[in-house]
Amino acid sequence: MTRIKVGVFGAGGRMGSTVCQAVAADPSLELVAGVDTHHSGLELSRVAGVTGVDVQVSGDPQTFVDRGAEVVIDFTDATAARENLVWLARNSIHAVVGTTGFTEGDLDSFRKEFTTSNCVIAPNFAIGAILMMRFAEMAAPYFDTAEIIELHHDNKLDAPSGTARLTAERMAAASGEWGDDPTTNTVYDGVRGGIGPAGIRLHSVRMRGMVAHQEVILGTTGQTLTIRHDSIDRTSFMPGVILATKMIASRPGVTIGLDPFLDL
Ligand code: NAD
Repeated sequence: MTRIKVGVFGAGGRMGSTVCQAVAADPSLELVAGVDTHHSGLELSRVAGVTGVDVQVSGDPQTFVDRGAEVVIDFTDATAARENLVWLARNSIHAVVGTTGFTEGDLDSFRKEFTTSNCVIAPNFAIGAILMMRFAEMAAPYFDTAEIIELHHDNKLDAPSGTARLTAERMAAASGEWGDDPTTNTVYDGVRGGIGPAGIRLHSVRMRGMVAHQEVILGTTGQTLTIRHDSIDRTSFMPGVILATKMIASRPGVTIGLDPFLDL
């Protein structure tokens, strides 16, 4: 069996090392290279806790070309990933991207760059989170008010989370008719959260001990609906990352979100 050759940007990070372990454990994938600016020169086995892989972490993406990577997975940060993705596109390597914090302008520029290879950018690879977004979008037209509360670990750099943003965008696209906020006096700045698409409010909680969690609360006369998803471990994202890695070669252009890969 020919295995897909896979590289990882951010191989030494919290997500990147979990991704390295998942790729190394999959019989149809081969982990050929890891790039991480802060762990360059170290053994990938030590940095990412993978066994049976004889690869040194590099600080130079050229290693992906040298080792024949067909797909590269990126879990870094938005500033680094902006460069990484352009580099991958220009080297005709498929990209599976979990990094969050991109602007609409970034997505437009990625769409222009990925002409000879493909790219999927998913702010959340957990199946439960993908269903949560779908359910929230389905519920939106039946409710008058909605707010999104996302809760993450205290090392997260961007706010709101990519998942919260995408949820709000999809709910706003499903319904533009939301009740006005009645608040006229606030004691603390920002206490009512940030105002997202169609006026849907988003609240970002950063808390030691958390991983990635989100609640979508919808309300109408006499009833509320709460849709909640919890990722309690980073392995929750791995089936989605592995699925995207296997399917990306057959999805031309830039795909946002994992839904098209799941036939939802
Ligand atoms: P982290 O800080 O633990 O890891 C990031 C790693 O990237 C670090 O090891 C860092 O050294 C490395 N890095 C930085 N710049 C680099 C560059 N130019 N080239 C190569 N490596 C570079 O962060 P994390 O918790 O692993 O999160 C990474 C990203 O993944 C964040 O944007 C986070 O929001 C996102 N995330 C997405 C999902 C999802 O399902 N899509 C789930 C969890 C986290």
